[in-house]
Amino acid sequence: MARTTVKIPTPLRTFAGGSREVSVEAETVGAALRHLTEAHPELRRHLLTPDGRLRNFVSIYLNEVDVRTLQRDETRVADGDVVSIVPAIAGGAPAEAHPGRRPGAPAPAERVAAPFTPEELRRYSRHLLLPEVGVSGQRALRRSKVLLVGTGGLGAPAALYLAAAGVGTLGLVDFDAVELSNLQRQVLYATDDVGRPKLEAARERLERLNPGTTVVPHRGPLDSSNALEILAGYDVIVDGTDNFPTRYLVNDASVLLGKPNVYGSIYRFEGQVSVFDARRGPCYRCLYPEPPPPDLVPSCAEAGVLGVLPGVVGALQATETIKLLVGVGEPLIGRLLLYDASSMTFRQLRLDKNPECVLCSPHATQHGLIDYPAFCGVREADPRAGIPSVTPEALKAELAGAEPPVLVDVREPQELQISHLDGALAIPKGELPERVDELTRARSIVVFCRSGGRSAEAVRTLLDLGFQHVRNLQGGINAWAKRVDPTVPIY
Ligand code: ZN
Repeated sequence: MARTTVKIPTPLRTFAGGSREVSVEAETVGAALRHLTEAHPELRRHLLTPDGRLRNFVSIYLNEVDVRTLQRDETRVADGDVVSIVPAIAGGAPAEAHPGRRPGAPAPAERVAAPFTPEELRRYSRHLLLPEVGVSGQRALRRSKVLLVGTGGLGAPAALYLAAAGVGTLGLVDFDAVELSNLQRQVLYATDDVGRPKLEAARERLERLNPGTTVVPHRGPLDSSNALEILAGYDVIVDGTDNFPTRYLVNDASVLLGKPNVYGSIYRFEGQVSVFDARRGPCYRCLYPEPPPPDLVPSCAEAGVLGVLPGVVGALQATETIKLLVGVGEPLIGRLLLYDASSMTFRQLRLDKNPECVLCSPHATQHGLIDYPAFCGVREADPRAGIPSVTPEALKAELAGAEPPVLVDVREPQELQISHLDGALAIPKGELPERVDELTRARSIVVFCRSGGRSAEAVRTLLDLGFQHVRNLQGGINAWAKRVDPTVPIY
């Protein structure tokens, strides 16, 4: 028996009693994970399929090597070994429903390689002084075209540094408007940009920073019908997306077009960075052949994110992009960098090409883009569909009536400190299955959360458990605040 440390990533810590790591005695990686799931049964469904196999959207590393390239579950462990669980995480800001797609803007115009002007020489002098960049590297940057998919938490710092560095053409894909809650981390935008389209605000800010950078807006969302056409016009793709369908789409289109894809994703205090370039190393699908089912990984809207975290991860993505464009240094190909802001540690894991990858291996079976929302199981993305619900106005009338419904608040404890409804019973969504006995089946129940998504899932859970009089508050407590009680804060 060997004493092994199993490192638990942030998204799974709540299922492991909050532990960052657990020490277990085991002979193999599989046994170590079994001991872990015995001690913390809630982890089981996140790590293992019902028949006990390791799930495809979770990677397991022994020290810094993926166990899939060793003997998988049977890989032997020694005293002091570290087993790391690395789940797929989605990334930036909350994913909201996508509006209809609009065609992208035309491809950027070619730039000519004119000599640098005196202003350019001054602007880029600190690059020109670096032997690794110099005039030829700076020219390479000016010739280059970089596409940022997403201009949120990751895209914002990446865009600022890439424009500042003198990248000639920056394509931006987004379709959101700037919201007040974005400003905590999306440093491209200012307070007076709230309500404006992100593309418009970003373009203005970047052109003010560097008039030598041409900003090409592509009004998203990116999908299978436009991705190849848009990505084809760029040298490097920077993945700053916040959802799995777009992440797989960006990966697949990059592999099919033979372009490097600079990947970053964030969750609470933790970030992942890598460079996927299937010509020289693995792709995202080699790391995660399948996305997690939508209900297994909480979204950032539920989880929150430390504002500076995407700043660090986005700056790392910009660094890798500049290195690729200039052709210096060791790119982060075949390596996954894990950053934990709370312990301020960087760890690096080796990433190998999956010899059976459906996309980038010699046995590839996928030769084009697919239906990504369906692949990620989010075709029925709206958990609200088919769920009985009540409007804030109707609920107000019922609460004033003879038989007011019981209110159940399924938000997390820290959210209750922001806003609450009087008399509501607080049961976080994750605790609902165990605490269901606190609810009376005979009474009418209205469940709410921040904006109605989590509570819809909770209503589904209660219906499945045999409750009959359960409804979802449409638009959550934020809609209540907007339409019924303006004294309730919106967040
Ligand atoms: Zn691959």
